[in-house]
Amino acid sequence: MKKKIVIAGGGIGGLSAGIYALKAGYDAEIYEKNPVAGGECMGWNRKGFHIDNCIHWLTGTDSGTSLWQLWKTLGAIDENTGYAKTDKFYTCRLDGKEATLWKDRDRTERELVALAPEDESEIRRMIQHVRFAESCSIPVEKPLDMMGVGDYIKMGKSMANMPKVMKEYGDIDLNELAERFHSPLMKMLIKDYMPAEYTAYSFIVSYATMTGGNGEIPLGGSLAMTNRIIERFKSMGGRLFTNAPVKSIIVEKGAAKGIELENGEKITAGAVISAVDTSLLYGRLLGGAYTPKDWAGAYGSSSDYPVMSGFQVAFAADNGFSGDGTIFFGCDPIKIGSRSFDMISVKNYGYEKSFAPEGRTVLQTNISQYDEDYLYWKSLSKEEYKARKQELADGIAKRLIKEFPELDGRLELLDCWTPLTYERYCGAYHGAYMAFITKPGVKKLKCDGTVRGVKDLYIAGQWIMSPGGLPVAAASGKFAVQRILKKEKRPIDI
Ligand SMILES: Cc1cc2nc3c(=O)[nH]c(=O)nc-3n(C[C@H](O)[C@H](O)[C@H](O)COP(=O)(O)OP(=O)(O)OC[C@H]3O[C@@H](n4cnc5c(N)ncnc54)[C@H](O)[C@@H]3O)c2cc1C
Repeated sequence: MKKKIVIAGGGIGGLSAGIYALKAGYDAEIYEKNPVAGGECMGWNRKGFHIDNCIHWLTGTDSGTSLWQLWKTLGAIDENTGYAKTDKFYTCRLDGKEATLWKDRDRTERELVALAPEDESEIRRMIQHVRFAESCSIPVEKPLDMMGVGDYIKMGKSMANMPKVMKEYGDIDLNELAERFHSPLMKMLIKDYMPAEYTAYSFIVSYATMTGGNGEIPLGGSLAMTNRIIERFKSMGGRLFTNAPVKSIIVEKGAAKGIELENGEKITAGAVISAVDTSLLYGRLLGGAYTPKDWAGAYGSSSDYPVMSGFQVAFAADNGFSGDGTIFFGCDPIKIGSRSFDMISVKNYGYEKSFAPEGRTVLQTNISQYDEDYLYWKSLSKEEYKARKQELADGIAKRLIKEFPELDGRLELLDCWTPLTYERYCGAYHGAYMAFITKPGVKKLKCDGTVRGVKDLYIAGQWIMSPGGLPVAAASGKFAVQRILKKEKRPIDI
C-alpha cells in the first residue's frame, strides 16, 4: 500500500504539496476548511463582475527559469498561457504630476530624469541596480539546507550581480531610500507601493522581476490559475476535501499520526504536511506546545516583525475611466481607527475583458493596513464593523471622484473587505498578505520546514521563507515532500 500524506490547508502551498506528493508516488489528501480551495490566491463574483484578489504579478513567467518549470508542474501556466497586456508596474500622481515605473526600465530612466533632474544620479544608480537584479531568481530546485557546494556555486553564477544590489540596498529600508531623493514625487514612487519598512532591495527586486520579463499576470487572473492547479491535483488522483476544517494534528509518542477534523473525524497518515498559516499550526493545531522561541518572539513584536494587509474596495465603473493599471494618488486624509491616510491606490482591471460586462470595468482601491489597523478592526462590534466599512467605502468613492472627475455618477460599489476578512477566510495572521515584513537589521526568522519534537510533520506555505508570496508558497509544497523523501533515503529530484 502506498504511504498516505495528509495535508492541512488547500492554498497554493497545500496544493503544491499534494501535487508533488503524488508525483513522488504517495497518496495525497488535502483537507481545506473553506468550500473552495485556493486560500489567498482567490477571486469572487459580485453583481455580474469578477473581483480578482491576488496576482498583481506572478514571478516565474519566464520559461527559462526553474520557477516556470515548477508552475508548469502545478498546471498553473505553460507555453500556451496568455498574459495581460500591461506595460507598467505602477504610476504615482501628485499635484498634477505623474511618475511611472514602466516595464521598459530605460523608458523609466529617461522619464524620471526629465521629471526630477535634481535626482538624476540617484535615479540612474537605482535603474542600474534594477538591471543587476534582473538576474535574481528564487531557488526552487530544493530547500537551501539540502543544497551542496555545487548548488551554491551554480546559484552564485546565475545571480552574479545580486551582491551589488545587496551592498547598495540591502541595509536600508524604503524610507531611507526615499530620503536619497529630493523630488516629492520620487519619494512617493519609492515609498508607496510596498510598506516603507521593507528592505529597499525587495523593491528593486520586485521591479526587476517585471523589467526582466519574469513577472506577468496570467489571463483569467488568480481564481482561474488556482482552478487549474486544483484540476492538476485531482487529475493525478489526489483527493481534495472542502468544508473540512482541521482541529488538530494528532501527535503520539513524538510523531504526527494524522489529523482530527472539527467534526471529530480522525484521519490517519504516514506523514502530515501543515499548509495553514504557521500561527494557526503552532497555536490551534499543535496547542502551543511546539512553537519555536524566535517565532513566539516575532508574534509578540509587531514593531520588529510587522505584517501588511489592506482595506480594499471594489467598484464597477465605465470603461471611459482614464486611469490605466495601478495608480497611487494623494488624497484628503481619511481616518481608519487612530491612523490617518493621505494616499490611496486604485487598480483598473480593464486589461481583463472577462471580469466585467462589455463597456464596464472593475476598479479596486487599497489602503495598506498593518498590525495596529488590524487591532482597530478587531475592536469593533459586528454592527460598528459593517457601518465603518460602508462609511469608508463612501469616503473612498468621493476621493476617487475628486481625483478622476470622469467617474462622477459612474461608480457602483461591489464589495469591500479588511484584514479581518483574510483572518476569517484563510486564518491569516493579522490578515497578512505575505510573511513578516523583512526589515533591515532585524533577524530573519528561519524555518527548516519541520517541527522540532514532532516527527513526520512538515510545514508548507508562504511563511517558511521571506518575503512569502506565491512563489514561496508553491516551492514550499515541493520542499515538504523532498524532506519526506530524504527521510526515507529516496532521491529528492521530483
Ligand atoms: C490582496 C493580495 C494580493 C497578493 N498579490 C500577490 C502577488 O501579486 N504576487 C504574489 O506572489 N503573491 C501575492 N499575494 C500573496 C499570495 O496570495 C500568498 O502568498 C499565497 O496565496 C499564500 O499561499 P499559502 O498556501 O501559503 O497560504 P493560504 O493561501 O493562506 O492557504 C492556507 C489555506 O489553509 C486553509 N485553512 C486555514 N485554517 C484551516 C484549518 N483549520 N483547516 C483546514 N484548512 C485551513 C485556508 O482556508 C487556506 O485555504 C497576495 C495576497 C493578497 C491577499
